[in-house]
Amino acid sequence: MTLEKLAAHVRTVADFPKAGIQFRDLTPLLADGAAFQATTAALAERAGAFDLIAGVEARGFLFGAALAQRTGHGLVLVRKPGKLPGQTIGHDYALEYGTDRLELHDGQVPKSARVLLVDDVLATGGTAAAAVELLRKSGATVTRALFVLELDGLSGAQKLRAAGVEPVSLLHFPA
Ligand code: AMP
Repeated sequence: MTLEKLAAHVRTVADFPKAGIQFRDLTPLLADGAAFQATTAALAERAGAFDLIAGVEARGFLFGAALAQRTGHGLVLVRKPGKLPGQTIGHDYALEYGTDRLELHDGQVPKSARVLLVDDVLATGGTAAAAVELLRKSGATVTRALFVLELDGLSGAQKLRAAGVEPVSLLHFPA
């Protein structure tokens, strides 16, 4: 399936979750077996060399798990606070208003493991950059992040490149 055909499975919902946001909804792509499989295959082709996948809550889990199954790699979960049952390490990061936090199970990433970050959408890059910081805090090496869709014009890619991470996105949509 071509990337153009994959893009046709993205639904745009205006003013969600708040006025002015064009929400790029990937649920139609997930609901179509051929499109979901083609997305996973296209992500795998662009994954490069790595040891472990990190999926970012919540939709990063879906694509991260599919990619892990396809490539035979393990998956670690980068989660919102208070969701992981074991000992965690965390990273606090700034939002436009206030702060947020991501957590990871302590000791689950082997020291110096090459971790591939996976999420559904790259917007401002704030979430992905925070996930990279957290993974590096745990001793991981992170040099590439995979996204199904990137919103152009929000500088998310520049933010990641400035942090030494190459962003790779299957689809590009305007912000
Ligand atoms: P950011 O930290 O700004 O890069 O936002 C990234 C997260 O927010 C991603 O994990 C997406 O799931 C979600 N997100 C942000 N903007 C959009 C959008 N316009 N459409 C769909 N998801 C979005």
